[in-house]
Amino acid sequence: MDSGIIIPEGYPFSGIELEEIISPYLVQKRVEEIGEEISELYQDKVPIIIGVLNGAFLFMADLVRHLHIQFEVDFIKIDSYGNNTKSSGTVRLLKDISADITGRHVIVVEDIVDTGLSLKFLKRRMEEASPKSLRFATFLYKPDVASPEVKIDWVGFNIDDRFVVGYGLDLKQIYRGLPGIYAINEDAKK
Ligand code: 5GP
Repeated sequence: MDSGIIIPEGYPFSGIELEEIISPYLVQKRVEEIGEEISELYQDKVPIIIGVLNGAFLFMADLVRHLHIQFEVDFIKIDSYGNNTKSSGTVRLLKDISADITGRHVIVVEDIVDTGLSLKFLKRRMEEASPKSLRFATFLYKPDVASPEVKIDWVGFNIDDRFVVGYGLDLKQIYRGLPGIYAINEDAKK
């Protein structure tokens, strides 16, 4: 669906209109469902929920408001894209977790799994600290690209291999606040 949002000058794909692929209503409905499932699974436990910055900040914030259990939060910041629309192939750790996760139930919350490289990096980093359990949630998943090496416990939506923005995801740092998910029509690139 056309969104009426045109990419401004000075940004990649400027002049192209964003296409809404997941509506704000469906985003919220799915996050609520995942929240219910997590609450059910972690009854009587106090997991540490680790958000992957920057992209997962909105998903994380909405998700925890649907939990009916006690939990702690922490954040890790990594980068594999820089300001580009393709993965650089290497992951840099920009900010590590501060919580001691040894012996704890850990849930890592990602915005999107594209190649799966970041996920592999996160799994290795978490396992170094020997958590009692480790699960992964991602809001978006690109099944045509991702290597299925790491099991993902909760996926919001599977999407096609297209660059998307909104709900935490950026295009050169803009569009993170859009309430739905929007694709850039790369074929329309000038
Ligand atoms: P991966 O390591 O799985 O290739 O990529 C994961 C990271 O790349 C995500 O956390 C996100 O920051 C970025 N990324 C991957 N695909 C997209 C996309 O379609 N749009 C945006 N904005 N970022 C993406």
